[in-house]
Amino acid sequence: MLARTDLRGGVPSTAQLRRALPRGGTDVDAVLDVVAPLVAAVRDGGAQAALDAGERFDRVRPSTVRVPQQAVVDALDRLDPDVRRALTETIDRARRVHADQRRSSTTTEVAPGGTVTEKWIPVRRVGLYVPGGNAVYPSSVVMNVVPAQEAGVRSLVVASPPQADFGGLPHPIVLAACALLGVSEVWSVGGAQSVALLTYGGTDTDGTELEPVDMITGPGNIYVTAAKRLCRSVVGIDSEAGPTEIAILADDSADPVLVAADLISQAEHDVMAASVLVTDSVDLADAVDAEVERQVRTTKHGERVRTALSGPQSGIVLVDDVDAGLTVVDAYAAEHLEIQTRDAATVADRVDNAGAIFVGAYSPVSLGDYCAGSNHVLPTSGSARYSSGLSVQTFLRGVHLIDYDSAALAEVAGHVVALADAEDLPAHGDAVRVRQTDSARAGSRG
Ligand code: NAD
Repeated sequence: MLARTDLRGGVPSTAQLRRALPRGGTDVDAVLDVVAPLVAAVRDGGAQAALDAGERFDRVRPSTVRVPQQAVVDALDRLDPDVRRALTETIDRARRVHADQRRSSTTTEVAPGGTVTEKWIPVRRVGLYVPGGNAVYPSSVVMNVVPAQEAGVRSLVVASPPQADFGGLPHPIVLAACALLGVSEVWSVGGAQSVALLTYGGTDTDGTELEPVDMITGPGNIYVTAAKRLCRSVVGIDSEAGPTEIAILADDSADPVLVAADLISQAEHDVMAASVLVTDSVDLADAVDAEVERQVRTTKHGERVRTALSGPQSGIVLVDDVDAGLTVVDAYAAEHLEIQTRDAATVADRVDNAGAIFVGAYSPVSLGDYCAGSNHVLPTSGSARYSSGLSVQTFLRGVHLIDYDSAALAEVAGHVVALADAEDLPAHGDAVRVRQTDSARAGSRG
């Protein structure tokens, strides 16, 4: 089922590797023609236009976009106790990890009387998109809300598609997760229209103002991604999430049953999901292939898994040794990377490019999806080479406070003037020179 790429006998260059490695992708451009008019309609028509689009795509029209507070409370009351306990534990672990990511301001005295302070200020209002077309993702509520709250974001709204089976409200488990997290503002709107309404705001059907946000985070399908691309000049976005990926770097010490289970668990997300094994052991590759065949027969979403594993985005890459494997996984830059080798922690420490690294046999990606405490919103499609997953940092802006006194400015004035002249911007130099004259200084004090 898993196609093989044989890179034994020497690892090619990075450029060749990127071409040789299995990788899927979604063509966001292909839906821009559909999504651009939707975004424009919501920009001009607000909540009514968003509800019109929802009626078309979700086959339900909630009476208001904003979910009544009582519905959020009721959803928590009705939540299955096991799920409630699991979500509570997930929230607790995520809070502990994300609280440790908080940053404090730093002040550098660059010269006597001259300081630069970097102050971290949370984004004022954020919109957190929780998908809800084909599946329900309460874990995504946690992974988006917790870092925003721990960053100190004062105003946040969760938006999720209306469900025809639940009277046009978002899925009750999503509402219950919001209640557990103390989120009181939830909008029942999905897809591109949701991103557009978060961006531009509007007036709800009952006259309530739907305030626009400054930043939107959260995963979604291709329409959501296209809308984020179109709105990103007006609001900040976290990233354009592509199909989910796992790469596993394994040697002959790995257990093929565990490797197969993890490849399958990722393929379960989506027919476009990528599952890639990189190994220096042909015996392991053969054993994993056989295990995958055996396990797929009994897994619930077998057809979806089979399609994902047999697609061009999935496969087994054979390499000479673990060092060569490290070069391959760095070039691939997986969203999720598992290390199942001898001395896994040392090997993991040598990885440069991955969204998150799961070390050893007892840290599967499923743990990170829910309960590790880490964030599961991670960079896909190779973007782990230059970006990070969602964190407290996502919701903070570093603002510099520059505070020089007269003597500190005088000390460096000559350099400012020299550089301003070199750039042919003499007025820049004049703005410093004018402060050096006694009369100007006396005037400013006066
Ligand atoms: P979604 O909420 O992203 O999209 C559903 C919305 O799409 C609907 O509300 C509808 O308005 C809109 N839509 C449907 N068909 C349309 C059409 N033809 N034209 C315009 N709009 C249309 O939910 P989904 O579809 O289930 O997708 C969720 C995605 O998010 C999946 O790909 C999943 O793998 C991904 N995901 C990623 C993570 C992560 O952390 N990376 C977590 C959870 C989910």
